[in-house]
Amino acid sequence: MTARSGTLSSLLRAGFGLIVLGGGSMLGGLALQALLGVPGDDMPNQAPSPNSAIEGIAPEALISRSETKAVTAQDYMMVAAHPVAAQIGAAILDDGGSAVDAIIAAQIALTLVEPQSSGIGGGGFLLVWDAETGGLTSYDGRETAPALGSGDYVMQQDGAFRPFMEAVTGGASVGVPGLLRMLELAHQDHGTLPWGPLFTPTIQLAENGFPISPRLNGLLQNAPYLKDMEPAGSYFYDTATGAAHPVGTILRNPDLARSLQAIATGGADAFYTGPLAEEIVSAVQNASRNPGALSLTDLANYSAKRRDNLCLTYRVYQVCGMAPPSSGGSTVLQILGLMENSDRDIRQAEPHSTDGIQIFGEAMRLAFADRDRFLADTDFVSVPLKEMLSPAYLVRRARTMDFSHAPKVPREAGNPTNDQAFLPDILDDSPELPSTSHLVAVDRTGSVATMTSSIETGFGSRVMVGGFLLNNQLTDFAWSDVKGGLPIANRYEPNKRPRSSMAPTLVFGPDGQPRLALGSPGGSRIIGYVAKTVMAVLDWDMSLQRAIETPHFQNRNGAMEIEEAPNLDGIAATLTARGYDIQRPAMASGLHGVEFIGGQYISGVDPRREGLAVGEANLSPNLDQVFETLITKH
Ligand code: GLU
Repeated sequence: MTARSGTLSSLLRAGFGLIVLGGGSMLGGLALQALLGVPGDDMPNQAPSPNSAIEGIAPEALISRSETKAVTAQDYMMVAAHPVAAQIGAAILDDGGSAVDAIIAAQIALTLVEPQSSGIGGGGFLLVWDAETGGLTSYDGRETAPALGSGDYVMQQDGAFRPFMEAVTGGASVGVPGLLRMLELAHQDHGTLPWGPLFTPTIQLAENGFPISPRLNGLLQNAPYLKDMEPAGSYFYDTATGAAHPVGTILRNPDLARSLQAIATGGADAFYTGPLAEEIVSAVQNASRNPGALSLTDLANYSAKRRDNLCLTYRVYQVCGMAPPSSGGSTVLQILGLMENSDRDIRQAEPHSTDGIQIFGEAMRLAFADRDRFLADTDFVSVPLKEMLSPAYLVRRARTMDFSHAPKVPREAGNPTNDQAFLPDILDDSPELPSTSHLVAVDRTGSVATMTSSIETGFGSRVMVGGFLLNNQLTDFAWSDVKGGLPIANRYEPNKRPRSSMAPTLVFGPDGQPRLALGSPGGSRIIGYVAKTVMAVLDWDMSLQRAIETPHFQNRNGAMEIEEAPNLDGIAATLTARGYDIQRPAMASGLHGVEFIGGQYISGVDPRREGLAVGEANLSPNLDQVFETLITKH
């Protein structure tokens, strides 16, 4: 116990002694250690349609690929999108914290060091498996639309949709953040360590400063509207030159330190009521672009929810995903269920063969047709989930998979139930852009937490308050309300949660023990990233790390998307010759996970982002060094 407690305190001592320059100092590529000794505070300061409008915008683009080696552990494991968040979460685990404790500490760190992707101004979904009871709990911390808000902000005066980023930026796209209420609920259920100390590492880091990573810098260089939105503009950019602070610049965030201190002491209530809530409401209502209607009542009324677990038997495994308002769980499960019932067996197809890509792609195409039509917040809309995942429906629907020729128009949704009076009649048209973060923690008892967390687009609404960015999650509602006189399931409605694609996933083996825990960012591509990774591990016998690294392919009921990777050029050409519409995008997934083999935890970390897995063998109490490695290795 002494050794455990010692780890966190030594991390705090050794890792947060960073000497910091004033906001905006330019440190270029210098090694972090070389900066020690520099005095701190007295340094000088240095579209017409949403889908076409988002073409070409990649707020969380692929910045670079890192080299990744799987980490093996026996005691605990933490995987997160930023090495420092992973180290902080692992230190909590080393100290005897639960998986949920570690997720909270790592998430709070991400709010500071990966501000473009997630944070306390956003929401998320969390699955927790308790090793002692064998129980699974699904937590919903999705944002809600303000009671007095309206979806009209996506429209121009001439009745056309606004260009996507114009609708994103400002107060009207901000949903009531759900993350802290959800983390509080999960902590009540599964916390081991007290709430307050989970915030301490990040409070110190926010006060002392952290160096900007290559990924954050790359995204800042190409972040529409961010520079003009105060106070975010002067936090992220050099106010004199307008340039993004370079890699290695030490950013201090005393506002966030103050907010986190209040939440550490006062619990989530200190966010949802009181002075911080007033600041949030004022920032949204007085935003320089698109003022929004978020109110103190909306914040005070927000509640996170436990949702029914959503699981499907796939071969000999139980696969569990997130229920609505996320479409992530049901769509991943449908893809797997359709593949299992297809008369072509993907296990017989060579990995990344034309057959393999076709079987997966056609299953995903059908699942997406159902998702686009039926999935929405079940507190507002009746979703035929049970029917969509019933063996009879999956068998019937799998028979309609067509491998003889490439479909030229989108497939239609199936008919899982006869009662469709309440259902919309068209594809949902909400655009989702890739940002977001996925974290997984396994604690010393073997309990597992897997969470996807998001402020939606990279840098969210750009409205910054209390040192953190607010989400733009309301753009995940359908941009149209009705079509052909019928209401769209995922239309904007006050107090409703917008449909998500986030897909935190847990796979259990025939013995009922965890086999895989994973998830990813990536907008609506999340679903394909997660389903392909699960399939590649279970059916193609790949390690999790390899399944993550291999090129992605997917089909969102349109073109066959095959990740830009030279070794797939031949396959892409073959599929083109078969009549498929092929697209070759860069795919900035951020798959993070753990596989469970023979009592060991083996990590999977996506080389497309900056993440790290930390187990007992590579826990580093020296955060300066962790930062230095991040900054110099890219
Ligand atoms: N807003 C998206 C969702 O909730 C996630 C955003 C992303 O991954 O880019 O599904």
